[in-house]
Amino acid sequence: MGNTCAGSTNVGGANGFFQSVTEAVWRQRPIIRDQLPMDNEGNTGSVATHNNAHDPDKIPTEESKKDEPSKPKRPNHLRRLSTMQLESVLGRKTGNLKELYSVGRKLGQGQFGTTFLCVEKGTGKEFACKSIAKRKLISNEDLADVRREIHIMHHLAGHPNVIQIIGSYEDAVAVYVVMELCAGGELFERIIQRKHYTERKAAVLARIMIGVVQACHSLGVMHRDLKPENFLFVNREEEAPLKTIDFGLSMFFKPGQIFNEVVGSPYYVAPEVLLKHYGPECDVWSAGVIIYILLCGVPPFWDETEQGIFNKVLRGQPDFTTEPWPSISNSAKDLVRRMLVKDPKKRLTAYEVLCEYA
Ligand code: ATP
Repeated sequence: MGNTCAGSTNVGGANGFFQSVTEAVWRQRPIIRDQLPMDNEGNTGSVATHNNAHDPDKIPTEESKKDEPSKPKRPNHLRRLSTMQLESVLGRKTGNLKELYSVGRKLGQGQFGTTFLCVEKGTGKEFACKSIAKRKLISNEDLADVRREIHIMHHLAGHPNVIQIIGSYEDAVAVYVVMELCAGGELFERIIQRKHYTERKAAVLARIMIGVVQACHSLGVMHRDLKPENFLFVNREEEAPLKTIDFGLSMFFKPGQIFNEVVGSPYYVAPEVLLKHYGPECDVWSAGVIIYILLCGVPPFWDETEQGIFNKVLRGQPDFTTEPWPSISNSAKDLVRRMLVKDPKKRLTAYEVLCEYA
């Protein structure tokens, strides 16, 4: 349900990115895992993407769940979960979220979860609560994903630019992740509003993002879905702290370990991910794409279709000649170029970026 083929997915409109971009078309949904057929030369076939119109405005209940579209079908070899497995996704008895928190308005909707404002009854403090409907957990892999997302959030806890997990709960219908509230909106929205950042301001954000990537990698975690939608500001102020969210596609890795599952979001996905042979370097690529966008306002690998975007990611070279690039410093251009090297072995690591450019 809700899947479209790449060939028919128009992401930018026929008149080019500048003329046609709107928040709705530029916002990136993750690629569904392992649905990226590719020939030996790296040519991608049609790609399924989530285009869920799923938009519930309240925590899912037994009544409301009938109307929600279900998660796309997984490959047949993935065993379906038993009722018993779904009874305890977290593997422990948790308190009742609704006894501890009052759940308020919807803050955001992702493909996997819906995030609500919630207020701790005892203290009156505001938090965000991501609810993941259990009926969307179809396979063992889905179950492992939810557990891993929470595990990784705890693993990274304490980093000033990673969203702080407060607790996790579960009832018959959903798993709930309570975290600190980011009331300042997405980096994505600020880019859309201002077209692009000054080099100085882009540098501040770039340093924060690379710092997060370096911290994640040093703790054996790769994010795998870095994009402006997954960086939130704590408040509406210009200088508000920035927090990284959505570890739903993140993975623990060991040095040298190779992954082959295609995950990420089209504009930001690294070429080696499309070629199904990658490691944590893919996060540096995605951060490079974000920095490019911060500096000039458009993605470096753009096309009207997802298929076209993937072809550009695999073979295209970003434009550093048209406005505003002539007025951007050589050092900024050099940094972006070295983060967008197609060969992950030749790409800068997050640590090298911090040493050479911070
Ligand atoms: P995706 O489809 O991008 O994988 P998802 O289903 O994993 O998304 P999240 O990205 O974690 O869900 O959250 C969905 C949306 O909820 C976010 O884009 C954001 O707008 C909002 N959101 C998430 N966490 C918070 C937070 N801590 N504070 C405020 N809003 C939040």
